[in-house]
Amino acid sequence: MRKLTEFLDENKIQYVKEKNASEFTTFRIGGKCFTVYPENEDEFISVISFYEDNGVKYIVIGCGSNVLFSDEGYNGAVIMTQKLSKISVTDKIIKAECGAQLAAVCKSAYKNGLAGLEFAYGIPGSVGGAVFMNAGAYGGEIKDVTVKVRVYSTKEKRIMEFDNETCGFGYRTSAFQTGEYIILSAEFELTEADKVEIKARMDDFIGRRKSKQPLNYPSAGSAFKRYPGRYTGQMIEEAGLKGYTVGGAQVSEKHAGFIINKGGATADDVIKLIEHIKSVIKEREGIEIETEVRKID
Ligand SMILES: Cc1cc2nc3c(=O)[nH]c(=O)nc-3n(C[C@H](O)[C@H](O)[C@H](O)COP(=O)(O)OP(=O)(O)OC[C@H]3O[C@@H](n4cnc5c(N)ncnc54)[C@H](O)[C@@H]3O)c2cc1C
Repeated sequence: MRKLTEFLDENKIQYVKEKNASEFTTFRIGGKCFTVYPENEDEFISVISFYEDNGVKYIVIGCGSNVLFSDEGYNGAVIMTQKLSKISVTDKIIKAECGAQLAAVCKSAYKNGLAGLEFAYGIPGSVGGAVFMNAGAYGGEIKDVTVKVRVYSTKEKRIMEFDNETCGFGYRTSAFQTGEYIILSAEFELTEADKVEIKARMDDFIGRRKSKQPLNYPSAGSAFKRYPGRYTGQMIEEAGLKGYTVGGAQVSEKHAGFIINKGGATADDVIKLIEHIKSVIKEREGIEIETEVRKID
């Protein structure tokens, strides 16, 4: 097998041999990773194809805002999409590459007087991560505005396009979570609206986040998915777990749905805390709550 670095060097694709996941995840947790930075779609697909053909383990990461890497790092390649960040607007359609930050896409929508994405302003993710997760907030979800998703199928070894129905969107889930598809870009259809009103909604949502969420500590947002008809944060708070701490990981005092890194938290601390919360809720409520943050092994 040709060595990974040889392939990257030959194709002038940027990589960093040892970068701690704590440097590129919002949790600020995780050990050494081999990170790769494709600059355009062709490079992105060529890297993925090379890894697939050579049986090399890899993971695609956008803004790292919904993941927990292990303290030992990742035994494979971490492909970062941050350089694939082009955004274009045609009439009411915004097209964005997978690595574009949601905040930038929302600002672009606002500048063009297009409404529909305000809910996503303040979600610290990329377009790829948001489509993958069907990210949502304040009554809106990515599925409400998505009209097309361009993917690379690692099984069929070709680019494919999904329309809204075939994306299989559900609560924090999509058809892209099977492992077969790499999201390249997405198109969102918005509606024309008054810019002042769009801005007011964006500001309102940001304000609500600042007042309710522990944004001054590293985290991965809500640690758990909502249980049908129940707010998980509320159940955790009612169980008296606010402030419960394992090592450097703590159930936020401000919002019990968030696990925060109080300083020096390890992935093991977070996992132990998650397990504790799950078992307490199981005992009190008789239900199994599911994590939203994705553990990367
Ligand atoms: C403070 C805070 C607040 C948050 N608030 C919200 C909220 O209100 N609503 C909400 O839904 N989420 C929220 N989140 C969670 C997170 O921001 C979202 O899930 C976001 O969509 C993840 O995007 P990302 O680029 O960071 O994904 P990453 O964390 O980089 O990746 C998440 C998953 O997506 C996969 N992925 C990423 N890019 C691609 C791609 N191009 N192709 C295939 N797979 C890909 C990764 O492999 C991984 O499995 C919050 C997080 C934080 C830290």
